[in-house]
Amino acid sequence: MTLGTLPTPCRPTALGPLLPVVGAATRVPLATGGRARYVNLDNAASAPALEAVADRVARLLPHYASVHRGAGYLSRVSTALFEAARERVGAFVGARPDDVVVFTRSTTDALDLLSRAVPDGGRVLVADVEHHANLLPWQRSARTTVVRGGPDARATADALAAELAGGGYALLAVTGASNVTGEVLPLHRLARAAHAAGARVAVDGAQLLPHRRVEIAAAGIDWIALSGHKLYAPFGAGALVGRRDWLDAAEPYLAGGGATLDVRADAVRWAVGADRHEAGSPNVVGAVALAEACATLSALPDGALEAHEAALREQLVEGLGALEGVVVVRPHPADAVGVVTFTLPGHDASAVAAYLSAEHGVGVRDGRFCAHRFADSLGIPTGGLRASTGVGTSSRDVERLLGALEQFLASGPRLEYGVVDGAWGPLDDPRPAPADFLELVLDDAPLDAPLDAPDDVLHAPAR
Ligand code: PLP
Repeated sequence: MTLGTLPTPCRPTALGPLLPVVGAATRVPLATGGRARYVNLDNAASAPALEAVADRVARLLPHYASVHRGAGYLSRVSTALFEAARERVGAFVGARPDDVVVFTRSTTDALDLLSRAVPDGGRVLVADVEHHANLLPWQRSARTTVVRGGPDARATADALAAELAGGGYALLAVTGASNVTGEVLPLHRLARAAHAAGARVAVDGAQLLPHRRVEIAAAGIDWIALSGHKLYAPFGAGALVGRRDWLDAAEPYLAGGGATLDVRADAVRWAVGADRHEAGSPNVVGAVALAEACATLSALPDGALEAHEAALREQLVEGLGALEGVVVVRPHPADAVGVVTFTLPGHDASAVAAYLSAEHGVGVRDGRFCAHRFADSLGIPTGGLRASTGVGTSSRDVERLLGALEQFLASGPRLEYGVVDGAWGPLDDPRPAPADFLELVLDDAPLDAPLDAPDDVLHAPAR
């Protein structure tokens, strides 16, 4: 790959990953032949595991046993680890001492649970900038109002605050950061506005928490939802953290073992607290992984996460902006995380994403990002491309994307693309079928490129 003609702001800087992640050196096959170190610029969808998380999981597995169910020593070990993980996740978001931490599968799961706990008749307010996970559980109720977002996060907050001031809402459900533009919402201000109007606040923390520290007690946030797989702990756990009164009064999210105190033919006494909503055998591996990710992120020096991400975001926005033929959506918000959406007018976003993958080994997201209403109001009703950074991202990763786009705009793709089996891809794709990939690469050490390799792309014959 040559970077020769890139403008100055796009030239490589010394910025490396902030924390080691698993798979940072993994190579993927290219449809043009050879392999390339995989550049994961899709952290907003799912982030790779932190090495610390993978180590913790590896140490747990030999000691893993049933949770809350067994008298065996290892059952008690697993139960203790599971409950310690709960404490850790609560501490990570600055929970109040009497808050409850319910382990869920994900943010979607957590928000769905909360949506079933709104007291009867309670009205809910959301904006149309939300990811579907924080829109559809509310939108399905006739007691929900969806306000239109403004031209920036501040204007969206203004619209929400104005609507709240009219009174009558039980809950404001708002994202901490947009998964489309990366814009950060002013949560302290919104919490004050909600409480002044007698409403509570639930925050979708899926995109904010991987990038920013949040203290829900200090910020006046009543609940926050999060996903482990976006927090470098992809082992199937998420959480809902916050006030217990609505949750204790709600129907159990799942009916089953562990959620009950006593079961008779004619009556069931349900547990309260987290147990009420965690029926079934809990995901102890996911919870311990999530807690380890929380501990690792919390141990970063103050400001390190923000500084790393701000530098990469700036590199991305400036580099994309310098490419003629690329339009960045809301490039300079007042406050934003490392999530940048852009389009190449005249080119199908999915075709460009397929090119980046097939010819450069770069992974981005394309489409409408599960935020169709927001995509419409941003003027990208058919979708765009999204590059998102994480603690494992380096400036070389951003360079790889910029170089690939520059090449695309200058000379087009080398291969021909079309819709194959329902998805864009090269019409003639010599890469192994994705389903066969693991069998092919397991134990194939040469697929791991040294991170300081002078060239990320190896032009060896394709496998
Ligand atoms: N909220 C936001 C802002 C998101 O970006 C996402 C996922 O992309 C979700 C919620 C849903 O997260 P999950 O798929 O982990 O439930």
